[in-house]
Amino acid sequence: MFNHSSKTALVTGASRGIGKTISMMLAANGIKVIGVATSEESLKSIQNIDNIIPFCCDISNEKSVEQLYNFSKEHFDSIDILVNNAGIHMDNILLRMKTDEWQKVLDVNLNGPFYLTRILLKDMIKSKSGRIINISSISGTDGNKGQSNYSASKGGLLAFTKSLAKEVGRRNITVNCIAPGVIETDMIAHLTDTVKKNYLDRIPLKKFGKPEDIGKMILFLSSDEASYITGQTFYIDGGISLN
Ligand code: NAP
Repeated sequence: MFNHSSKTALVTGASRGIGKTISMMLAANGIKVIGVATSEESLKSIQNIDNIIPFCCDISNEKSVEQLYNFSKEHFDSIDILVNNAGIHMDNILLRMKTDEWQKVLDVNLNGPFYLTRILLKDMIKSKSGRIINISSISGTDGNKGQSNYSASKGGLLAFTKSLAKEVGRRNITVNCIAPGVIETDMIAHLTDTVKKNYLDRIPLKKFGKPEDIGKMILFLSSDEASYITGQTFYIDGGISLN
C-alpha cells in the first residue's frame, strides 16, 4: 500500500485489540516488530507470527522498559517505528476516584510512553530517522464523564506529541498522534447496550471503528509518503468529535 524505508518497529499493547492488529499489519508489510504486553500468557496471541517477536514488559515500570530496550538491542541496531499504543482505563467520577486509580492510569498511559520514547530516541537520533506514533483518544481533547484520569493521560499524550515533534524535527524524526473514537476491542466490551446506543446516535458514520481503521493510519504515518507530517493528531472516530 505504502513504501517503507523503516524496517523495525516496537508496538506496545500488542497482545490484543488495536495493538495486535497494528503489529500484524506492520509485520505483513515486511517490518520486523517487537510486540509488547504484560504477560507471557497474553503474548501467546502473537506467538509464531512471521516478523513478530513478543516480549513481556510493564511499560509503567522504568526498569522493565530498560529490559525491553536491552532486548531490542539484541535483535536490532535501532527501532525505526515506535507505536505507543498500550493503555488502560479505571473509570470513576472524580469524587470517588482513588489515588491508586488516578496513579495507575497515568503510569501506564503517560509515564510508559515517556520512559519508552526517551530510551529509544537516542538511537533514532543517531540513525537520523524515526517515526513515533502515540495512540491517544477523543477523550484527550473532549473529556469524558467518569474518565478524568484517562482523559488527562490522553490529553497529556497529545501535548507530549507536539512538544517532542518540535524538539526532534531537525533530526528527521516525526512524532504524531492518533485519537481513536469508539473501536471494537476488549476496552469497550464492558459498555452496556444503552451506552453503546448513545454513542452510535452521536457517531455520524453510525458504526464503531475496527482496529484495522487505526492500523491503516499507522501504515501511512510510518511510510515514506508521510515524511513531511509531524506534530499532528488524526481523529479516527467516525466523526464523533464533530459533535
Ligand atoms: P485493549 O484491547 O484493552 O488492549 C490493551 C493492551 O495494552 C493489551 O495488549 C495489554 O496487554 C496492554 N497493556 C496494558 N497495560 C500495559 C502495561 N502496563 N505494559 C504493557 N502493556 C500493557 O485496548 P485497545 O482497545 O486495543 O486500546 C489500545 C489503545 O487505544 C489504548 O491506548 C486505548 O486507550 C486507545 N483507545 C482505544 C479506544 C477503543 O475504543 N478501543 C478508543 C480510544 C483510544 P495485556 O494483554 O498483557 O493486558
